[in-house]
Amino acid sequence: MDVFDKATRSKIMASIKSTDTQPEIKVRKFLFSKGFRYRLHGKDLPGSPDIVLPKYKTVIFVNGCFWHGHPCKIGSGKRMPKSNSKFWERKIKRNINRDLRTKKQLMSLGWKVITVWECESKIDRKMSKKLKPLLDLKD
Ligand SMILES: [Zn+2]
Repeated sequence: MDVFDKATRSKIMASIKSTDTQPEIKVRKFLFSKGFRYRLHGKDLPGSPDIVLPKYKTVIFVNGCFWHGHPCKIGSGKRMPKSNSKFWERKIKRNINRDLRTKKQLMSLGWKVITVWECESKIDRKMSKKLKPLLDLKD
């Protein structure tokens, strides 16, 4: 039994900012092992990117598939909470739009933007493929 009523639970869930998630840590470890150095949570940049590599003018977002509406097995609504599903659908749609806006803003500031999805971070081959543009920039 949830100790909170539906509305309160929704507020709590909505306020959770996913910092230092497992996928994020995996991507960081991968980059570190390749010799990259980075900053975390670039609060001075649009969207506070999870990983910032100033030397390569590249930012990386590590996105949870569900929250950011990735059309994959994880993100395609399989885990959509049964109660309040309209609320979640709207929220995820807003996230998708915000992600797009953020990406455009960053690109117009001259940053390269890489998005690593949660599902990709689980498979090393997919993760390194996603990060290849960055790896290619390294001497
Ligand atoms: Zn996904």
